[in-house]
Amino acid sequence: MTETIVDALRAELGAEVVFGNDIPARYHNDWAGMSPVLPLALVRPRSTQQVAATMRICNAFKVPVTPQGGMTGLAGGARPIKGGVALSLDRMNGIEEVDTVMATMTVQAGVPLSTAQKAAEDAGLFLGLDLGARDSCLIGGNLSTNAGGNRVIRYGMAREHVLGLEVVLPDGTVVTSLNKMLKNNAGYDLKQLFIGSEGTLGIITRAVLRLQARPAMLASAFCGCPDFPSLLELLKSARQQMGSALTSFEVMWPSFYDFMTQGLPNLRRAFNEPHGAYVLIESGGRDATENEALLQDVLSSALEAGFVTDAVLPSSERETRDLWAVRESVSEYGKLMGPLTAFDVGLPTSAAGKVADAIEAAMTDRWPDAIALSYGHIGDSNLHVVCHIPSAGQDQPHKEITELVFGFIAAEGGTISAEHGIGLLKKPYLGLSRTPEELALMARIKHAIDPNFILNTGKVF
Ligand SMILES: Cc1cc2nc3c(=O)[nH]c(=O)nc-3n(C[C@H](O)[C@H](O)[C@H](O)COP(=O)(O)OP(=O)(O)OC[C@H]3O[C@@H](n4cnc5c(N)ncnc54)[C@H](O)[C@@H]3O)c2cc1C
Repeated sequence: MTETIVDALRAELGAEVVFGNDIPARYHNDWAGMSPVLPLALVRPRSTQQVAATMRICNAFKVPVTPQGGMTGLAGGARPIKGGVALSLDRMNGIEEVDTVMATMTVQAGVPLSTAQKAAEDAGLFLGLDLGARDSCLIGGNLSTNAGGNRVIRYGMAREHVLGLEVVLPDGTVVTSLNKMLKNNAGYDLKQLFIGSEGTLGIITRAVLRLQARPAMLASAFCGCPDFPSLLELLKSARQQMGSALTSFEVMWPSFYDFMTQGLPNLRRAFNEPHGAYVLIESGGRDATENEALLQDVLSSALEAGFVTDAVLPSSERETRDLWAVRESVSEYGKLMGPLTAFDVGLPTSAAGKVADAIEAAMTDRWPDAIALSYGHIGDSNLHVVCHIPSAGQDQPHKEITELVFGFIAAEGGTISAEHGIGLLKKPYLGLSRTPEELALMARIKHAIDPNFILNTGKVF
């Protein structure tokens, strides 16, 4: 059987497929920190037709296929399967069109997010999706995970940036629906099935992205607040006074801010005095002077009311980058801590302060040397917690930590994944966030589209 699929793939795809030890290590694993896996074959197609041919062959042989983007996923979703085929979209990296009348961009799934952002800017427009992994993650991966990121509060999740999609189904059928229109109610909105389904229903090959007017000016401010309730008051007034000009509201607990700034000498602390909570606010507007004035107004009233104790407004691009560098240092915590257990939970914003404090306290109660760092896109109800037990070395008690954290989230009616998805890591816990009826419906959809269970087998369900 193995011989036959190898022959079939080789005959159909030629140089676009490699096998066994010829598969480079970067295709063995994503960023979730699980052990790497060497698949049977790696296919790197150059066209939708080659993706379709791969799927037809794998479906005929009932061999599992793992779609891969930039491999920056944090849930194990792109980790291949032993004996299966890894299908990377990284060679399908063309920007096909920027339509400045419709404000759309048609891209292949392998375009890196930062390349799409730049192409939008070159055309005088703006792609509202942004995340720390922007240089490595690919549009297909962003859509398959329904990625969130730093500007969700203003522009929404990845789903909100998509007008049309082309997907290849597990049997090789190509469904091309590259709609550019904002309004299209002709039947089911099929693209929504594939966005956020983590490559379990179809392989995204092309997409029409919705672009925005480019904010002429983005202004940032970094604030120290006395405590989480004060920070919520700041969020309330920023939403009310800034409206759609509010593009980011990123919060860092002292646990995160102190650990990162002490551990990474290249990071600069904005204040000498410690604060109860830190927040990065970003506002975007057409008029630079008005935009800055609006942000300053919000900060002045918050300072006067005591919701903010201290604030820094950077006066150069360099200073702005320095402020954001602390928030974006998340890619470095592995280096500082070693193996860790990371969470991207979601819960009602007003509960986030109490829950983060309770998790941090419960962690040190259970493991006295525990490190638990909290931060998040709090304007979008998304809390990140990163945990490490130094005394446990390489044998981190991942399961026990996960159960501890998810216990608090389930009690608040939150979600176990606000943005990174379920993949492999969170699969055993999906029932905490979804009802049996929801899970049964998901299984029926999966069965209808992928009856041989070959596409991203073992992920999500
Ligand atoms: C430093 C850093 C910061 C991050 N910040 C954020 C953040 O702020 N917000 C956020 O949401 N995430 C964040 N992430 C997680 C990650 O970057 C996102 O999940 C991203 O969308 C994954 O894109 P990717 O191309 O790397 O996908 P991959 O990791 O390659 O794949 C992710 C999933 O999508 C599937 N897939 C990939 N391409 C396709 C395709 N073309 N068709 C069908 N299925 C496909 C894979 O099978 C897998 O299940 C961060 C990661 C890092 C390392």
